[in-house]
Amino acid sequence: MRMLKIGLRGDEVAALQTRLKNLGYYPGAIDGIFGPQTELAVIRFQRDRGLTPDGIVGPHTYNALGIDSESGLYTVQAGDTLYTISLKLNISLPALRAANPGIDPDNLRVGQRLNIPKAGTTAIVSTNTDYTYDMMVEDIQDLQRRYPFLEVGVAGQSVLGRNLYYLKLGNGPNQVFFNGAHHSLEWITTVLLMKFTENFLQAYANGTAIRGYNPREIWNMSSIYIIPMINPDGIDLVLKGLQRNNPFYQQLISWNNGSSDFSRNWQANIRGVDLNHNYNASWQLSKQAELAYGITGPRPTRYSGPYPESEPESRAVADFTRAHDFQLVIAFHSQGEVIYWDYLGMAAPQAWEIANQLSKVSGYALDQTTGIASYAGYKDWFIEQYRRPGFTVEVGHGTNPLPISQFPKIYNDNEGLLLLASVITAQ
Ligand SMILES: [Zn+2]
Repeated sequence: MRMLKIGLRGDEVAALQTRLKNLGYYPGAIDGIFGPQTELAVIRFQRDRGLTPDGIVGPHTYNALGIDSESGLYTVQAGDTLYTISLKLNISLPALRAANPGIDPDNLRVGQRLNIPKAGTTAIVSTNTDYTYDMMVEDIQDLQRRYPFLEVGVAGQSVLGRNLYYLKLGNGPNQVFFNGAHHSLEWITTVLLMKFTENFLQAYANGTAIRGYNPREIWNMSSIYIIPMINPDGIDLVLKGLQRNNPFYQQLISWNNGSSDFSRNWQANIRGVDLNHNYNASWQLSKQAELAYGITGPRPTRYSGPYPESEPESRAVADFTRAHDFQLVIAFHSQGEVIYWDYLGMAAPQAWEIANQLSKVSGYALDQTTGIASYAGYKDWFIEQYRRPGFTVEVGHGTNPLPISQFPKIYNDNEGLLLLASVITAQ
């Protein structure tokens, strides 16, 4: 493939436009004409990927787009499955299959070339880029448009007035609750829950199995409630930086030890409260542990707030829990590839057995929290209040924020866990 830039025309430009459209960068027509709109899409893509934003598609940009610059096709790499490729390229799995009718999905060969399907068969939830609140809102709207039977509601508002959206899959009596991103640096858990929602809806609509489960049976058996992003203010601070119009502008810098870089360390909400230390479960012990760490006020992590549920985000999640009859809850965090299942010996009788099954299906280890992390978390509060199975699942491995390149593995590890958790208390 030749270098592509403004003024050129042809099939290669059309292929480029298709790819950019699939990734959500190009809203225009696939006309094979490299005009200003195509150039703008290329520049935005290059910026997001840390490439020189020159609007010219050379080898590096081809590579980042997942397109082989020689053939215009995707080249299978070691460890790829059709499924992880669909996540990497943000193309729906059925579309990828349809575009490659001759291939054996269980026997991909390294170096094999795959067709990249045309735009319009795109997946909605982006699984290959940093995921902001605005992207989530747009994806929720698109999901609702494509799958009108998705129920969407608002459980509350953040400190800065962003909506805490909830999604509901199914109508069955077995209510379960999954939530993500209590912590700002852990926004990859939002992508996990959004992608799970999309894949579940797609399987439900098509009547196809998902990891051996019949989604229509699950739909009748369970009601799956999901709050994908509990801390939108913190996530936007981490991903977009501190905005001038933030009402806590000066305070945030001082809470952050004088630094205006929040991208590597900020876990709290926008008032410097760690939402997962703000629930009413041995909150006083959490407070004492903080003092031992020298934590006396708002800061990037571990400050439990002035009193339990002092923050609108944790209050909304607790209220949402009180308003339902959840048989099982999971709070997703990153990182560690581990499942926490107990709280001060109060775990429900069946929790250990369920935890073992979740561990088996995900490959994640079981563990128990110690020290300052053992109190005032959401699962702690749920276990103490309801004596039902409540879990913290720490996805991925490495240093937060985990790079989005880990997403295909994280999704692969957790899709089966989510499906199992959706039905296990109904059986
Ligand atoms: Zn966390």
